[in-house]
Amino acid sequence: MDRENKHPAARTGENNRDKAIARLLAGNRRFVQGRMTNHKRCDAKTRENLANDQRPYAVILSCSDSRVPPEMIFDQGLGEIFVVRSAGHVVEPALLGSIEFAVAVLGASLVMVLGHSKCGAVASACDHPGEFHGNLGALLQVIVPAVAKIKDKAAGKSWEEKVAMAIDENIKLAASSLTERSNILKRMAEEGRIQIIKARYDLDTGVVKVLKDDF
Ligand SMILES: [Zn+2]
Repeated sequence: MDRENKHPAARTGENNRDKAIARLLAGNRRFVQGRMTNHKRCDAKTRENLANDQRPYAVILSCSDSRVPPEMIFDQGLGEIFVVRSAGHVVEPALLGSIEFAVAVLGASLVMVLGHSKCGAVASACDHPGEFHGNLGALLQVIVPAVAKIKDKAAGKSWEEKVAMAIDENIKLAASSLTERSNILKRMAEEGRIQIIKARYDLDTGVVKVLKDDF
């Protein structure tokens, strides 16, 4: 369906999402250039204004890695983005419920799955897929299918290249599992009320790159 034939509400949603992506990427540029402004939106007045309500415009599902805090790398202030994190951004029921809450109740129109270069969780799933037990083992098992998927393509590649391929595959896996495992997210995506996009953060440069659907 092209943009012109869509219901007005869907077109409005598209505008909001385009703006949301632009707003995140503009914030990332400020972060990269060392011109962050989010302290101005973390002040007492902003805090007081938000004390009784929140309307975040985007949800970020990202890795818990201490070097990838979404509020900082997108230069966002209080109340602007709803952040859901787990090591390797693995998707579990509590995280899905959190994302559902952010879009269905709080009204966020964009969901970004944000992976990052040199992800330790993905590297561990590559190197030690069956060595950990308990909760840590369960976490890595969620990433293992992404590692398995790139196995043939990664033959003959260096360890770094293999991990990089698995990182991208893990981003795809997380993004697709949002609609496969949540009827609410699936329906809202089909109705054009939310958009789910994939992105990767580069630890060396600080740049967030939005990934195409067929990357
Ligand atoms: Zn990570």
